[in-house]
Amino acid sequence: MPFSSLSIKLTCTSCGHQTAKVLDWLREHADRFDCPDCGLTVVIDQMQVGSELAKLGDVVDELAAKIRDLRERLISNAPRSPTSA
Ligand SMILES: [Zn+2]
Repeated sequence: MPFSSLSIKLTCTSCGHQTAKVLDWLREHADRFDCPDCGLTVVIDQMQVGSELAKLGDVVDELAAKIRDLRERLISNAPRSPTSA
């Protein structure tokens, strides 16, 4: 999964509608977004974005650890040669 396609959820302060925005988008529009539900321009809560990004970081770390684990298991389970089994 490319890093730029990771997204975080932004909540509309008016209607509570949650909008997922990818990190590439955030980099360009870090201060406000238009709610697709009620059309309000919502000023982005930097605290919320900060905690969402922190959560995302944890997920990515966890994913990296799982992938490393899985690869090690696959390598150690791989038969040395197709005829030895
Ligand atoms: Zn809204």
